[in-house]
Amino acid sequence: MRKTIIAGNWKMNKTNAEAVKMVSELKGLVKDIKDIEIVIGAPFTALSDLQKEVKGSNVKIAAENMHWEESGAFTGEISPLMLKDLGLEYVILGHSERRAYFGETNEIVNKKVKSALNHNIKAIVCVGEQLEDREAGNTEKVVEDHIRGALKDLTATEVLNTVIAYEPVWAIGTGKTASPEQAEEVHKFIRNLLVGMYDEKTAQEITIQYGGSMKPNNAKELLSKENIDGGLIGGASLQAIDFTGIIKNAL
Ligand code: PEP
Repeated sequence: MRKTIIAGNWKMNKTNAEAVKMVSELKGLVKDIKDIEIVIGAPFTALSDLQKEVKGSNVKIAAENMHWEESGAFTGEISPLMLKDLGLEYVILGHSERRAYFGETNEIVNKKVKSALNHNIKAIVCVGEQLEDREAGNTEKVVEDHIRGALKDLTATEVLNTVIAYEPVWAIGTGKTASPEQAEEVHKFIRNLLVGMYDEKTAQEITIQYGGSMKPNNAKELLSKENIDGGLIGGASLQAIDFTGIIKNAL
């Protein structure tokens, strides 16, 4: 019933030429895969050429961030109109690196999510606790705060155009994966939270991805869990062969 979405997050990596080369290779490797939404989150500089590269294929391209305003005096920012102009379907919002290094609060993430949805761009909304939150037993509190903050004032119809990415910060880029049981526990908590915020049907339809050192060799166990509907993948999305390895484990 739920869409499985495997999305890469390249972060600040790859020149335009490197990006096009990787996606060209990926397209060939995944051309026969159906029933899985395959998305690559890439730097702004590569989006235009990548959109051309994926035309007619089963690979989609996402932006990794976006401002909430359509235009104006926001030097260095990129607007939803600019992303829409390229025909993008997805944007990654509220990644923990944006929260940690660029001061993104729940309020800012919420403005961006609302703006993306208003422009018919699906938002991959990242949530997740820091190591000290987990050690203090505050995982659920932090995740609930992120979810309620990011999705504030969204209707059930709107929230169905979001994807939640649960990314424990201590597992991002560290090689430390949450165990499938630890991840499933939080995914189940998120699903139940969405039942309370919306309704059972809406909560059952939302894709909840896991992110944090997902690799071809640990993806199968994580993705076999009932409430883990896909992955948001950093390091292992940079090489077509590794990313394909993860996608094949979601089949
Ligand atoms: C991420 O950046 O969202 C991520 C999960 O990174 P990694 O897979 O490298 O841990």
